[in-house]
Amino acid sequence: MKTYTIASIPGDGIGKEVVPAGQTVLQALAAAGNSFQFAFESFDWGGDYYRQHGVMMPADGLDALRDKDAILFGSAGDPHIPDHITLWGLRLKICQGFDQYANVRPTRILPGIDGPLKRCGPKDLDWVIVRENSEGEYSGVGGRVHQGHPIEAATDVSMMTRVGVERILRYAFKLAQSRPRKLLTVVTKSNAQRHAMVMWDEIAVQISKEFPDVTSDKELVDAATARMVNRPATLDTIVATNLHADILSDLAAALAGSLGIAPTGNIDPERRYPSMFEPIHGSAFDIMGKGLANPVGTFWSCVMLLEHLGEPAAAKRLMAAIEKVTADPALHTRDLGGQATTAQVTQAVCAFLQA
Ligand code: ATP
Ligand code: MG
Repeated sequence: MKTYTIASIPGDGIGKEVVPAGQTVLQALAAAGNSFQFAFESFDWGGDYYRQHGVMMPADGLDALRDKDAILFGSAGDPHIPDHITLWGLRLKICQGFDQYANVRPTRILPGIDGPLKRCGPKDLDWVIVRENSEGEYSGVGGRVHQGHPIEAATDVSMMTRVGVERILRYAFKLAQSRPRKLLTVVTKSNAQRHAMVMWDEIAVQISKEFPDVTSDKELVDAATARMVNRPATLDTIVATNLHADILSDLAAALAGSLGIAPTGNIDPERRYPSMFEPIHGSAFDIMGKGLANPVGTFWSCVMLLEHLGEPAAAKRLMAAIEKVTADPALHTRDLGGQATTAQVTQAVCAFLQA
């Protein structure tokens, strides 16, 4: 029997609740299928680790993950530690260390979920947002001078390389090609940002020639937000820069009903390194330790993990079990207006998998 080795990094806050729930569900799925099994190795990196060691993860941390088939991540964030330390010290270290340059965020309105777009059903909103995950606005290039003086100045340079733009656009075209509608919207801000964004537009036209069966259009990021709300059915696969897609995907998650549901994958499409799957929500310290966290975002991330491992049948089976659970209001957590606990939702998914 095939064994997949998975690194699990619960991180902080409700990450410590939803990641174990994800492991439970994956184990139940493996037990129900008999064709593969999972070996989990858990790493206690994050805010507590930082308080003890002064770093979010050990210096040789990437080496401990390198041979794993995938990584299941919870959240990094702690109210007592500055955000840039928790973010750059763990999650981004892994994303950049393993060149997970494609951040993929499927968004759908699941059965039983009421999104804020009342007129909009599951068929009208079915997107995948592809976010450039290695450079752009978050490349870390910049500086700050004359701190505290009247002439203080700071820059954040948005660095876009041809290699970086080509590879993310090619990935997005391929993904669009694999979906029924074969439709890609390339989002930029090339009217105002006259250099890198114009290069994006040009490269998009070049790459589109490799995919004659994919219909592509371009949209400015501000217009894209309005289109997501007003004409959601005209969108399918969406690709944008690191910052733009970060913002668009939070809007997407909200339109799909709750931050607690949305999944994401940080993918190394070339498979040189392990890819990392995580719910898009953060550590949510306000609800931690109360059993209130919605684990669906993590379960859906596990579906993406299974697809990445090359187990599409198991992925489908898990997604079907998740949708049975969301369809039942008695199994909604508080963020969805219900009263179910993390444990109840987890048990219900396991029960559907074993049925
Ligand atoms: P971080 O600083 O790590 O981003 P945060 O405190 O900003 O964490 P988020 O996770 O980004 O919290 O989410 C904002 C709010 O949404 C939370 O405070 C919480 O109330 C709610 N929320 C987020 N995720 C979930 C979830 N899985 N289940 C239930 N509620 C959630
Ligand atoms: Mg947050």
